[in-house]
Amino acid sequence: MDTPSTPAKVAIITGASRGIGAAIARRLARDGMHVVVNYASGKVEAEQLVAAIVADGGAAIAVKANVAEASDVQALFDAAEAAFGGIDVLVNNAGIMPPALPALADTDDTTFDSLFAINVKGSFNTMRQAAARLRHGGSVVNFSTSVIGLALPGYSVYGATKAAIETMTNIFAKELRGKNITVNAIAPGPTATALFLNGKTQETIERMGKMAPLERLGTPDDIAAAVAFLAGPDGRWINGQTLRANGGLV
Ligand code: NAP
Repeated sequence: MDTPSTPAKVAIITGASRGIGAAIARRLARDGMHVVVNYASGKVEAEQLVAAIVADGGAAIAVKANVAEASDVQALFDAAEAAFGGIDVLVNNAGIMPPALPALADTDDTTFDSLFAINVKGSFNTMRQAAARLRHGGSVVNFSTSVIGLALPGYSVYGATKAAIETMTNIFAKELRGKNITVNAIAPGPTATALFLNGKTQETIERMGKMAPLERLGTPDDIAAAVAFLAGPDGRWINGQTLRANGGLV
């Protein structure tokens, strides 16, 4: 609720044109935050999402930025401040995973480099901006994966990018001492989005959907609820942690 005594928090969600990021933008807007819907190529989807949030009484803008490019990320933060007067929450959701999931020995240089450029450098770029620009009392939510615990063949390089995120999360939380800013990571299990579904057979999807004791795939809304907790008032004592949101998978 945007009142003089409790001004709305402002959240940047990277990679919010679809999938988990779009669910996070909808959820944080419903919780009263002003949201910045970042996208790389999904302009139409991002603008449709913004229109839906605004139609629902929320405040949102769409901003194109490739998180792997430091200058794009600086412009993303500039746009958020220009539109809403400051930034409180950064959700580093943007990420890629190769549909083919090659073994380490079969992973080519281009795949390795793009995974590290977007999944690691992308979050590094945004956290570097956040260190200087997030308001006191804010929060950062990064994205890891539960596959780090499962250690499934085919996920070595993707998993390595997310292991880097878990380490930066823990240390960045300590480096922000004195600012009252929390830094945590979410590590989803298999979640029904293009990133997980593309390239898998129906049989693989069903098998992986039964792996957790709750016997289903996660939904983007399941993950958005966990992000809303970490970014909202009830999560203030959680700091420097990685929360596995996976139905008990690992
Ligand atoms: P998704 O459906 O493929 O969506 C990915 C989003 O990231 C899209 O909005 C895409 O935007 C954006 N994006 C990609 N490259 C970008 C870049 N360079 N700059 C800015 N935005 C970029 O993926 P998802 O499943 O929602 O995944 C979200 C996060 O959860 C990722 O970090 C992923 O690693 C993590 N995760 C997912 C699962 C799962 O099972 N789905 C499990 C564990 C962790 P455009 O469409 O505009 O390119």
